[in-house]
Amino acid sequence: MKLLDKIFDMFNAQQDVGIDLGTASVLVHVKDKGIVLCEPSVVAIDKGTGKPYAVGAEAQKMLGRTPGNIVAIRPMREGVISDYSTTEMMLKYFIRRVTKNRLFKPRIMICVPSGVTEVEERAVIDAAMQAGGRQVYLIEEPIAAAIGAGLDIAKACGRMVVDIGGGTSDIAVISLGGIVVSNSIKVAGDKFDDAIIKYIRKKFNAIIGDRTAEEMKKEIGSVYPMEEEKTMQIRGRSLVTGLPQSIEVSSEEIREALEEVSAQIVDAVHSVLERTPPELVGDISENGIIMTGGGAMIYGLDKLLSSKTGIDVFLADDPLSCVAKGTGASLDNIGILRDKSSYMYDMES
Ligand code: ADP
Ligand code: MG
Repeated sequence: MKLLDKIFDMFNAQQDVGIDLGTASVLVHVKDKGIVLCEPSVVAIDKGTGKPYAVGAEAQKMLGRTPGNIVAIRPMREGVISDYSTTEMMLKYFIRRVTKNRLFKPRIMICVPSGVTEVEERAVIDAAMQAGGRQVYLIEEPIAAAIGAGLDIAKACGRMVVDIGGGTSDIAVISLGGIVVSNSIKVAGDKFDDAIIKYIRKKFNAIIGDRTAEEMKKEIGSVYPMEEEKTMQIRGRSLVTGLPQSIEVSSEEIREALEEVSAQIVDAVHSVLERTPPELVGDISENGIIMTGGGAMIYGLDKLLSSKTGIDVFLADDPLSCVAKGTGASLDNIGILRDKSSYMYDMES
């Protein structure tokens, strides 16, 4: 019996799954395979049947374009699970897609947004169990981000991680594998998009959609002067005529639009530094601050943060998949992590 158990464990370990349940996207990491799935956190639901009509990228295309009987939603937009039956549906769908072999049930580690409540966490765990998880664990986002960014978090040395996602920015100081000080604000990538929409409306009297705003942010957005400023041609709808209107926007203008939002992120980092014990502040100023998450990719955020704090700031390699990689990798060290169960919830039972 023992031997059989061991063989089973061996097969199961090959299926260790790490899931980054992000507000903007869901990424799934499978042991030895890497990131196998990366889809926007969007579900389109058929209101008649209550069943999902499309999930992920396909559903994203429908945002703002659905007829009356279908709704496309981002169930975790604000970093909380605003709609948990939809979140559950989405999670199950993604897990089933990556675990084809139903005979062996994987161990699943999930990283949830920091704003979720215990009840919501329980819902996430239940969904993962129903989708075929043998054991399901949750990990805090900053810890997963730090592991994914390649930091050795077990050392008695302070490291600061700033993860900027779609809905939330999470700032944490980590030492000895645990979070010492942290802060989470609902100001991140989506707020940059909103600020662009507001700005275009005010300055050009035109309305643009979320997707255009996001494109502009990625293409010409910045929060610190660029070496070479850029311009971009966009299409909106004029508030005056109600007709399509073509507008040229410059990176300087977008920077003006994003000033307030970026200042809020800088303030949040400040407030964490203020609450950090001096020894750890010393470590951080020596090692620098590491940034992860898609929102951190906006041009100049590292420079801005560095100029405001006097500490070096580094953008992690592949900031979008850090958390997923770290979540998956944490299963390898579950023995060690379990001992520090203050930040792990073992929901095996
Ligand atoms: P979450 O963890 O909340 O799912 P992500 O880490 O996937 O979020 O980051 C999503 C955010 O990153 C979105 O707001 C998206 O617009 C933004 N983003 C992605 N790529 C870039 C880029 N190149 N420049 C600026 N923002 C970006
Ligand atoms: Mg994230």
